[in-house]
Formats: sequence, structure tokens, C-alpha cells
Amino acid sequence: MGWDERYEPVIGLEVHAQLLTESKAFCSCSTKFGQEPNSNVCPVCLGMPGVLPVLNLDVVELAIRMGLATHCRIAPRSIFARKNYFYPDLPKGYQISQYEEPICTEGHVEIELEDGSRKDIRLTRIHMEEDAGKSIHDLDADTLVDVNRCGVPLIEIVSEPDLRSPREAYLFMYKIRQIVTYLGICDGNMEEGSLRCDANVSVRHKGETKFGTKTEVKNMNSFRFVEKALEFEINRQIEILEDGQAVEQETLLWDPGQGAAMPMRSKEEAHDYRYFPEPDLVPVLVGEEWVDKVRAALPEDPTVRRDRFVTEYKLPKYDADILTSEKGLADYFEEVTRNLSEGNEENYKLASNWTMVDVLRVVNNEKIPIGDFPIGPGRLAEMINLLAGGTISGKIAKDVFEEMLRTKDSPKVIVERRGLVQVSDVTALEAIVDDVLARNKSQVESYLGGKAQVFGFFVGETMKASKGKANPKIVNELLRKKLEGMRK
Ligand SMILES: [Zn+2]
Repeated sequence: MGWDERYEPVIGLEVHAQLLTESKAFCSCSTKFGQEPNSNVCPVCLGMPGVLPVLNLDVVELAIRMGLATHCRIAPRSIFARKNYFYPDLPKGYQISQYEEPICTEGHVEIELEDGSRKDIRLTRIHMEEDAGKSIHDLDADTLVDVNRCGVPLIEIVSEPDLRSPREAYLFMYKIRQIVTYLGICDGNMEEGSLRCDANVSVRHKGETKFGTKTEVKNMNSFRFVEKALEFEINRQIEILEDGQAVEQETLLWDPGQGAAMPMRSKEEAHDYRYFPEPDLVPVLVGEEWVDKVRAALPEDPTVRRDRFVTEYKLPKYDADILTSEKGLADYFEEVTRNLSEGNEENYKLASNWTMVDVLRVVNNEKIPIGDFPIGPGRLAEMINLLAGGTISGKIAKDVFEEMLRTKDSPKVIVERRGLVQVSDVTALEAIVDDVLARNKSQVESYLGGKAQVFGFFVGETMKASKGKANPKIVNELLRKKLEGMRK
């Protein structure tokens, strides 16, 4: 991994995000994924002669939301354009997009590098457009075409060439995914293609200010591939330059099977598309009032929220990073904290551990959204309250959690039903401790002889004898007292 350090990569990303609208951008067809091929279509999205597109206002609203979240200027007036090209999955022969006068310009997204420093990546623009259909080449039969996706709304987020390594590109993509999912405007699923990215890549000698010739890398449809594909392309270009050759401007397709980017076609210029203003749609006018309304309803920025988790709940940055990685998870955690009987640092950390470790384990294993997790935040808080209040031990809490998953019963009901209340009664525990020490004479001797680590064995035996219900703090105190008493 890595590349010749005398060179510096220069990377810009173009990210396509499929917007979560009910219907398509310019007709009332459904945007639902995975329907019978060629069933979500109508004369408008099939581009029949004489039909007229009608703009879905939700598309504009979601684009404004993204623009505001990334500090863009929202254009009071923007226009649609036709991008003309021929492809079997594009029955109209053109794509409605924005070219001159896009809806958002001049924004920026902050990424956080491994060393903790932060870097702003400038956004050139965000524009609205419609998606094309899908050609399916990998079946035994001839190529098949599914045009359900034709007319599904997208935004394209175009960055300036501010990224200087595949890692930075990855972090940028990660941040974009985090923002669109926080905003609820895209599901962020790269594998299903609702978030896609293409990269413009060039290399230059370190210290040089002029850009080298760039190529475009497409089809990086997972986070893993973004870094891999870029690193491959950077090394390919460096090799060409080292051989005294010139990099050719072309489009390459990342092939994950081969671990290589293959040339697809030489890169079209904008004039090849013969962009011109879409004559069937009026300009999009966005008043200040609308922008203010959208701004007022924006959720907290993920990084701001992360920082707040550190200061407000006194959590380690590591915890806060994981908890705020997705809005649903951050919401879940905060709902747990609101239901704690006592909001203190110790209980917040308990809430964080249970959410981060136990809840996430199930969510990840079963690949379910946090919203479908069977234990609601109120219930989890109830259990943490029992634990923090000393009613149950940490070990019993794990069992209660498992049973809550299975039965969906409240932790109180489970604890009562199974008699799991922690034993903190000193007299009762003393009897168990005495019995454990009486049964393990040789271990007692070696402890008194200086083998301090045997202490853990006594704790374990006592917990076992109490079926996990003994209060570990009291057990520790009792054992220490008894064993010290034996020294005399
Ligand atoms: Zn349609």
C-alpha cells in the first residue's frame, strides 16, 4: 500500500445521492427499489413524444437541505438543462440535469484526519438531476434493460480537487454519507447504488502548483473500493510518468474482481453532451422564506453532536464517534440518557457501553436498522437503572438483556419472575463466603503464602455459589476481611 512519496495525488469527487422522495423527479411514478423491472414507468419518464415533465417540489427541498448542511449558497434562481447522450437505458436520449446555474454553490464539508486535525473540503456545486435506467450485462441472455430508475431524483455533489490522498477521499465520502443520512434525504446505501461516487484523479511532483492530467475513476460502489481504486490509479499514473510517458485523459472503470481500473472510454468534454437549457421546465425560484424554513428544521450536524456528547455526557471521543456515526443510534442513546433515574457521568458511561457494545452487536449481526431493535431506549434505561441502583449485578444484567431480547418483557418483570435480585445482605453473603473458604483450604493457604492472584478465584467461586446474584462489591470486602483475619 502507498505510493512514491515524491508525488502528490490530487483528487476531486463527484458524489451522486439518490433522494428519498416518494415519487420521481418529473412524474408521479414510484421510486421504490426492487420492483418488477419496467413496471414503475409512465409516458413522461419513458420520454414519449408530447409529454411534459412537472418538477417534484420535494426534490428541491431536499437539495436545499443538503446545500444548507454543507454551507452552500442557495441560488434564488436555478435552471434545468438537457444533457444529451445515447444509451439503451436512457429512452429519452437525454438526462434532465443542471449545468449552468445549479441550485447550490460554494459550500464546504469538514473532514477529520487521523491525527485529529480538521480540514475543509470545498464544494464547487450541488445540482439536481434525474437518474438513468439500468443495463444488466451479467446474465447469460442478451443485455437486459430495466428503466424503473429512469427519472429517480438525484443530487450530484461536486468537490473541488482538495483531497490529497485516498484516505482523505474515504473520509470525505464517509462524511457525505453521514450528512445525507442525518438529513434523511438519502439512505446512504452504496451497495444498492443509492450513494455512488466517481473520482477525478491526477498526480504531480510534490511542491508543484500546476495540476497534472486527470482521469476519471467510476464504479467504486463500496467504501472499501474508494481507497483501493484510488490507490491503484495513483500508482498507475506515477508509473506512466516515471516511464517518461504522458497520462491520457480517460474514464476508467474499477473492477473489484481484478483489483484494477480498466479504461472505459476516452473522457467526453462538456460540449460532447450538447448541454442546453431544458425548454419544458421553468426556472426554479427559491425565496428566502423557504430557505429559512428549511434551515430552521435542520438536525444538529453530526460533528457538532459528537463534540457535544464529549462535553455534555463526559464520554471518551471514541464512544462519541461510534454513537454519532448514525443519527438513529445517537437518538437512541440520548433517549436512554433521558430515562436514567440519575443523570451522572457514571450512568452515561453505562448507557454508552450498553448501546455501543450490546445493542450494536445485535443490530450489526442481524443487519437491522436501530429503529427495529426490539428493546426500546426506555426499556434499556430501566435495566441500567436496576444495575446502577444495585438491584442486579453486571453479570445478571447480561442475562436480563438477553431475555429482554427474546421476550420483550420489561427488565423489572424478568428480574422478579426469575428471582434475580442481587444479594446485598451481608449475613447471607457471609455464609456463602465462609463456605467457599472452608471448601478450598489449599487455595487459602497459597493465598496466605503470598499468591495474591488467588483472590480472584475466591470471588469467582462465591459468585458461582450465589448463581451470579451476589453483590460483587460486598463479596470483595467480605473476602478481604475474612482472609486478613486468618493471618492472625
Ligand atoms: Zn413516470
